[in-house]
Amino acid sequence: MPELPEVETVRQTLNQLIKKKTIEDVVITLPRIIQKPDDVEAFRTMLQGQTFHLVERRGKFLRLLLDDYVLVSHLRMEGRYGMFEKEDPVDKHTHVRFVFTDGSELRYTDVRQFGTMHIFEAGTDLTELPLRQLGPEPLEKNFTPDVLKGRLKSSRAVKTQLLDQTKLVGLGNIYVDEALFSAGIHPETVSSELSDEQIRRLHKCIVRTLADAIAAGGSSVKSYVNGQGEMGMFQQQLNVYGRKNEPCKHCGEPIIRFTVGGRGTHICPRCQPAREVSR
Ligand SMILES: [Zn+2]
Repeated sequence: MPELPEVETVRQTLNQLIKKKTIEDVVITLPRIIQKPDDVEAFRTMLQGQTFHLVERRGKFLRLLLDDYVLVSHLRMEGRYGMFEKEDPVDKHTHVRFVFTDGSELRYTDVRQFGTMHIFEAGTDLTELPLRQLGPEPLEKNFTPDVLKGRLKSSRAVKTQLLDQTKLVGLGNIYVDEALFSAGIHPETVSSELSDEQIRRLHKCIVRTLADAIAAGGSSVKSYVNGQGEMGMFQQQLNVYGRKNEPCKHCGEPIIRFTVGGRGTHICPRCQPAREVSR
């Protein structure tokens, strides 16, 4: 599933590709992608004649700003956007096509069909579901160690808490494992029992992991590609995710995999001891 760095990479790419393009028509071949409005035909007519002005992001959601509306799009497992010309053959997994007045098309393709799109009147999307319930953005200046501490007040495992988008947005299974490794924290640590020092370290590692991944264009584990079909390069920098039995880059101990809250989890057992060893 694309996480914050991949969605941010798609945002940056889409922003360049569709800015100032005007929608002539929308072709929807899988109605259940459209969550709002209920009527797919209304979705189509609302967007006809609208021009894209800016692509923003909230957590793992894309916010595509038009004249009168905001299109909120979540890629979920494998959704992706691509630019095409009208005459290009249409892939069987393409479910929504935004046909522009200049003859180009933005196509939404989704093999797993879990992605969603919602339309809101301009200025209303952030205070409505699904965006209303989201936690703070980890890359904004107001995300401090104290804010993180407040979001970690829970008896749940720290990994489970960090994956909860209502507590903090953007982290998924890859980057949560990477951030916890960099911070030297075991993922099953009860989140309210983290020391202030551990929270400071975790805060720094979350911000750095996400920023480094954005700089590398995201990861391409499971064939993830960004909005222009380019593979992200961050998977080469992964320290634990997907590296079961490979030596830890820090201490040489083999990486192990187990599940936390039902999610496959990778750690270095020496760098992330279950109880913190003073060093
Ligand atoms: Zn290690």
